[in-house]
Amino acid sequence: MADTPTPAEYGQAAAAFLAEHAPRVGDDAAREAYGIDTVKGQKALLKSFYEAGFSGITWPKEYGGQGLTDEHQLAFNQAANGYETPNIFGIAQGMFGPTLMGMGTEEQKLEWIPKMINGDHVWCQLFSEPGAGSDVAGLRTRAERDGDEWVINGQKVWTSGAQRADYGALIARTDPSVPKHNGISMFIVDMRDPGVTVRPLKQATGEAPFNEVFLDNVRLPADAIVGEENAGWAAAVLMLRNERISIGTGARRTTRPLSYQSISAFAKKVGRTEDPIVRDRLAHLYSIDTAGTLLSTRMRQEVDAGIELRARGSIAKLAGSAISRQAIDVADEVGGSELISWDRQGNEPAELNYPDTTYGVVGAPGGGIAGGTNEIQRGIIGERVLGLAKDPQLDREIPFNELRAMIAPPPTR
Ligand SMILES: Cc1cc2nc3c(=O)[nH]c(=O)nc-3n(C[C@H](O)[C@H](O)[C@H](O)COP(=O)(O)OP(=O)(O)OC[C@H]3O[C@@H](n4cnc5c(N)ncnc54)[C@H](O)[C@@H]3O)c2cc1C
Repeated sequence: MADTPTPAEYGQAAAAFLAEHAPRVGDDAAREAYGIDTVKGQKALLKSFYEAGFSGITWPKEYGGQGLTDEHQLAFNQAANGYETPNIFGIAQGMFGPTLMGMGTEEQKLEWIPKMINGDHVWCQLFSEPGAGSDVAGLRTRAERDGDEWVINGQKVWTSGAQRADYGALIARTDPSVPKHNGISMFIVDMRDPGVTVRPLKQATGEAPFNEVFLDNVRLPADAIVGEENAGWAAAVLMLRNERISIGTGARRTTRPLSYQSISAFAKKVGRTEDPIVRDRLAHLYSIDTAGTLLSTRMRQEVDAGIELRARGSIAKLAGSAISRQAIDVADEVGGSELISWDRQGNEPAELNYPDTTYGVVGAPGGGIAGGTNEIQRGIIGERVLGLAKDPQLDREIPFNELRAMIAPPPTR
């Protein structure tokens, strides 16, 4: 390849590379051979992409990226259609990486960012707590300074991928004597620290993709803090914004769990494509799925062109979860009670087993909760895109300590 290939040359090189070095979608033997369902296999696959110049395509060269354009990324994506690509690096590459690029020190960027794209590190997001999900600023996990170190104590929940993560981006309370948004800091946590306990949480799909995480006297070096002490809310907002954009604009890179493609394949399999109602619903799904993908693509192009989506990122996320909800209804129209038959292990006869569709139906509602619920996204759009009245926030100016006392007064005896 020339020093700076054209997007077309880059796409051709990617196609040639992928044909040799990536498993094709649906090729179970190749999946097995590449260990695609294992962390080791995923890391090895990303490393091979990186070494061939196909990872961190638009990321700056000084942090290990290729420093190329969105057109190069598009050319790669097109070449990668039909291949399995590494999929456990989303929190690193779509959420924390961009946050660190915006708020980290130069040392932190040089230390962490290359390992997000070369397959060394998988990351998780340690934000939500049992009493702090939508109101994440109400978190109780404490970070206290002890000499040169920070000592972390608390509990997180719904932590996707914590069971396989090397590092986590944590937000914790560093000053409880000020209003809740003003006393939070962001930290980098080694998930292998003996003070970190990860307990899986099983969801309706039968899998345990997320976890409870307990942090007991986890000691972090002073330079584990991201941004200024007590200024972590800004870092958290940036990461949440990156999360919404990453989820909302991801449809260009991957397909939704429940898409027109998967449901129409399912309709063919169960012989329902002659039914006029099914045809009507499939045409409707195709239309909104296509519109959603175009919206995602357009917004991703804006991001890659350096145009800040800011709160508009919520629109694509909300659209994606609305499409998924409608896709559930279409899948139900097509499959009805047959969708109940589901066996990921393949012990059921194939004609009674529709794992992808059923998995999508059971898993898709989570898309309207993860990364901020639909209600929260609508609040953001109303307030920050449309300029409508803010929700009343009575606790905004009250020191966190006092707030806690007001909500849960100590026992009088
Ligand atoms: C698949 C999945 C993956 C996740 N992964 C992670 C992860 O990796 N890391 C992480 O930190 N968290 C993760 N989460 C947690 C997620 O961010 C929270 O579940 C979400 O923010 C909602 O918080 P909650 O569950 O505490 O619900 P609550 O905040 O208790 O909300 C309950 C209901 O009240 C509504 N509500 C709350 N506040 C308002 C308001 N101001 N206006 C209107 N309605 C409101 C909500 O919309 C919701 O319907 C994940 C969640 C899911 C489903």
